[in-house]
Amino acid sequence: MAETIAAIATGTSLSAIGIIRISGDDAITVADKVFKAISGIRLAEAESRKMYYGEVTGIDGGIIDLCLCTVSQGPGSYTGEDTAEFHCHGSPVVLSEILRALFSHGVRQAEPGEFTKRAFLNGRMDLSQAEAVVDLIEAETSAAAQNAAGQLRGAVGSRLESVYSALLDIMAHFHALIDYPDEDIDDFEMQSYLPALRGTEKELEQLLSTHERGMVLRNGIPTVIIGRPNTGKSSLLNALLGYDRAIVTDISGTTRDTIEEKILLGGVLLRLIDTAGLRKIDDPLEKLGVDRALAALREAKLIILVLDGSEPLRDEDYEALRSVPPGVPRITAVNKSDLPSVLGINELSELEPEIKSCRVSALTGEGIETLGEEIKKLFPELSSPSSGETITSVRQAEAISRAKVNIGLAIASISEMVTPDAVLTDIEAAISAIGEITGKTMREDVVTRIFERFCVGK
Ligand code: GDP
Repeated sequence: MAETIAAIATGTSLSAIGIIRISGDDAITVADKVFKAISGIRLAEAESRKMYYGEVTGIDGGIIDLCLCTVSQGPGSYTGEDTAEFHCHGSPVVLSEILRALFSHGVRQAEPGEFTKRAFLNGRMDLSQAEAVVDLIEAETSAAAQNAAGQLRGAVGSRLESVYSALLDIMAHFHALIDYPDEDIDDFEMQSYLPALRGTEKELEQLLSTHERGMVLRNGIPTVIIGRPNTGKSSLLNALLGYDRAIVTDISGTTRDTIEEKILLGGVLLRLIDTAGLRKIDDPLEKLGVDRALAALREAKLIILVLDGSEPLRDEDYEALRSVPPGVPRITAVNKSDLPSVLGINELSELEPEIKSCRVSALTGEGIETLGEEIKKLFPELSSPSSGETITSVRQAEAISRAKVNIGLAIASISEMVTPDAVLTDIEAAISAIGEITGKTMREDVVTRIFERFCVGK
């Protein structure tokens, strides 16, 4: 018996269309009580997934809206249960009045993610697909959306399914060995599982190797803006953000803390960290900022060095450059292009011969677009189409890594001729870890926690 739940699926702000979803055993019966199709058809007889135009009545029997209604009979619906949807005018009042009418017929407010949770519990999708629903809703770039869409189609689940089934096969064989101890257990027989185990280990390794890209895809490239004081780092951050976020003054050392913001530049998502500037200073507050700046530098995957193009290079510019960890992609923004230029090509190539530089003005916004295009070129993999096999979830990466470790242990045990039951324990642990990703072996409290991330109505 599935309790009938309802929620606004389209958010609570004013919009042209607003959608209310209902799911559960009484979904269609209750929808029928508040909706009257103009054609006269009752929703119980309505065709699945067809739109019907009609009137919705409120608690007092008055008409609230003229809208479209569609029903989907379970188990072929999103949740696997009977569902109904009202596509109404998107006034928050209209939507909440319809909800109130539904609640008066015994329907209850859906919890965050409850529709998708039911879809998972009813076997309509695995857990990796359910998580992809949130990723898709929260995607901040088209590349992240593409990857989430691929996962929603089951890209991660189907890759793991083959590993899962290979491990199950091995486990079945090992059980046979343990259950029939009198049979001669040939060491060779244990060894014969090694290629299959190594295959699964490699497959997991490959999936895991996508996680770093996945984190960048989902959270943005951790980007640090460095440069000596007064080159315009805070101004550049503000120009990139389009509004004043950092305190900008011409007294050196004003930016005492690190500031973090996400921006979309040239189609690439940057997690921008403005820093206190990397200089040695005695003021304890400033020192804290410098320490944080150094920590940010260590995790940076992109560095924007800001120079003041209206002044000659100073020792501090060289010093800022020396603080950059080797191997981190970087770009030089030669700021203040609105002022007469003093820094020429020669000076720049003397500073950083190989590094691309862009002339920008944080004040006028000139050159910012070009800066974005140049950054995009540094990360071609983020603009390339994604099939959904990039692991964006920390939870999934952790489980894959655990499965891989256990497979490694099983391989070591077999190589050392350990008894089959010890090997079996490791394989079972690996199977369980993979099951956590697809949801086959997931504990209920963890499942609940996962769906709490969702918004109401999804
Ligand atoms: P930071 O110490 O590197 O963060 O530098 P700020 O962003 O605080 O800027 C230092 C000074 O340079 C301020 O007076 C800004 O108004 C000025 N400034 C920053 N960018 C530009 C620019 O593109 N053109 C001009 N003319 N002045 C700028």
